[in-house]
Amino acid sequence: MASSIKTLPSLDAHAHIDPDRTSDELADIGAVLAMTLSLDEAALVVDRYKPHVAWGAGCHPRNLKAQEAFDAERFSKLVERAAIVGEIGLDTGSRVPLDLQLRTFRQSLEVVAELPRLVSIHSYRATGLVIDELRRRPVAVPVLHWWTGTADETQEAAALGCYFSIHSAVARHSKFRTRVPPERILIESDHGYGDPPAAIPCRVEWVEHLVGQQLKLDIEDVRRLAWRNLATIIRETGTQELFPEAFTTVLSEVSPDLVHE
Ligand SMILES: [Zn+2]
Repeated sequence: MASSIKTLPSLDAHAHIDPDRTSDELADIGAVLAMTLSLDEAALVVDRYKPHVAWGAGCHPRNLKAQEAFDAERFSKLVERAAIVGEIGLDTGSRVPLDLQLRTFRQSLEVVAELPRLVSIHSYRATGLVIDELRRRPVAVPVLHWWTGTADETQEAAALGCYFSIHSAVARHSKFRTRVPPERILIESDHGYGDPPAAIPCRVEWVEHLVGQQLKLDIEDVRRLAWRNLATIIRETGTQELFPEAFTTVLSEVSPDLVHE
């Protein structure tokens, strides 16, 4: 068996963390990719060093104010300093007009085409639309968060190079076993601002358990798989210097060539 789960912290590929949380409150959260909802929020956190948190630059498709205020130039400046991009995407259940969402999403993908990043993408009731946009403007590296697409859409997204950050609410769906190669799987909590950050590792472990049942893997192996997959994404995007300490320590263990390149 691979080394014990205790040697690897949990890896949460999509959560929301209140920018005002102290480092003490964030000490036991494993490693977290934390999304922002607006450029204002991203500007607040992007340079705020927390050893366990990689912050994203994002503009959420359900946030009208953020969508109206989106500015591609400002976004690009934030992405230069951010380890990842997110949360961006499309949502046909949102009160934000779809043409505004599309404009923001397309401009964001243009920026990522220039500045490769892990991009966490929201696609609620817009799975086909998101695939269309990624086909029009392929980027490195799209990660579909809380994905609810059909089995065929899932296969198409995988063929386009997408990764999938799996939430407990969708983890039991067989499409993740039948249509997604294990090398494209990440695990997420979609933890909210008000939730206690210390609960994140438990929530991640629950998803690891569900995904492990699907893939016939131990929790430890699911965790190692997610870390290896992140290492691949980081290598592909050349972003290792933008990730904080809690990540680089583990990455040097799961993927030594990443650090010594
Ligand atoms: Zn989210």
